[in-house]
Amino acid sequence: MNARAPKGTADMLPGVARAWEHMTRVAQDLFARYGYEPIYTPLFEHTEVFTRGIGEATDIVAKEMYTFEDKAGRSLTLRPEGTASVVRATLEHTLVPQGSSAKLYYAGPMFRYERPQKGRMRQFWQIGVEALGSAEASVDAEVITLLVRYFEALGVPGERMTLLVNSMGDEACRPAYRDTVAAFIRGHAADLCDECKRRADTNPLRAFDCKNPGCAATMADAPVLRDELCDECAAHYAAVKVHLDALGIAYIEEPKLVRGLDYYTRTVFEIQAEGLGSQNAIGGGGRYDRLMQEYGGPATPGLGFALGFERTLLALESAGVETPAPARADVYVARVDDSVSEAVFGLVQALRDDGIAAEMDHQARSLKSQFKQADRLGTRVVLVLGPDEFAAGEVTLRDMNTKEETRVEIATAAEAVRATLG
Ligand code: AMP
Repeated sequence: MNARAPKGTADMLPGVARAWEHMTRVAQDLFARYGYEPIYTPLFEHTEVFTRGIGEATDIVAKEMYTFEDKAGRSLTLRPEGTASVVRATLEHTLVPQGSSAKLYYAGPMFRYERPQKGRMRQFWQIGVEALGSAEASVDAEVITLLVRYFEALGVPGERMTLLVNSMGDEACRPAYRDTVAAFIRGHAADLCDECKRRADTNPLRAFDCKNPGCAATMADAPVLRDELCDECAAHYAAVKVHLDALGIAYIEEPKLVRGLDYYTRTVFEIQAEGLGSQNAIGGGGRYDRLMQEYGGPATPGLGFALGFERTLLALESAGVETPAPARADVYVARVDDSVSEAVFGLVQALRDDGIAAEMDHQARSLKSQFKQADRLGTRVVLVLGPDEFAAGEVTLRDMNTKEETRVEIATAAEAVRATLG
């Protein structure tokens, strides 16, 4: 048997899993302040949900999906991202009846068959929000601000983050722009890679994302959509910027930011962080006003973002920020000899029932080794129970910070521990 996790996946060992839990907790607290509610959708969907929503010609759909047939011959796909599923669920359960709105957030694993490298996995973890039902520019600014505030709340230093914003236009102005870019690609075919040349026919805007230095240099001279936005899109984009300016959110306009999914309309944005190498986008998103109609639903504007856990952790590590790692136990109950084993077992349970994180030895360790284990666990208090203490109905409480020892009654040990913990 191959005992290694599949390529591009990683076990979340306790240190990293704790960081994930911390990140989801911070998200829950912060997102609630902005009115978001949790939603959990299945990890797989009918393949169509992604092919129709994300777009056949995108890298995700064309190359990266984990698609399989179930035993009944249905084509199913492990979700490569969260938005398509949330919009599908919103439609199925009529979460946004005409004229209303919903704010939803999710957290969980996503799956893309990509070439693994630093910050790029085949199973990775995302946290995301979707704000459905509003076409107003103020909600674009609110969602962007929430993403910035979230990274700040985690401790990513502001000076190590760059917020990029752009408008991708809509069905009124983007088709003509796509043709313009396709013509540009054909006119510069000699300077572009084969993939970019093919993109002229399939998805010309993706040529802006090509990592090939020659292509990047050539595409730098391509016409930008900002200059060709229709009046409505231009006004919307201007209003988003006014709202961001009003809040003092720093951003850079990046006319070449196109992001890899077809469903985006108008506002798109991305936050890049230092210290990650080429996979430096820690989160991003955009508006998708036509996605619900793509699924046969009523016109329902919406936008959202998704941020990646692994890359956010890399950003925190490279900035020297430690994610909080709470002590695994507050109190360790040590046993002097076997005569008090059952009393120790009972005391640990009583402390836990009282809401205190308590631990004891289950491996017949010596008293000295029990103290060492308490050290490893980082407990602030050790309670030592020996036959003498037990006979007197007491236990010795050792404050591991001050090294002071006091005898306390077993019956009130929880109170004494709490007083020491402060
Ligand atoms: P996207 O859904 O492509 O807009 O990605 C949103 C965020 O998810 C990115 O900014 C990354 O932080 C993260 N992400 C996307 N793809 C991967 C991947 N293959 N491995 C790790 N993180 C990823």
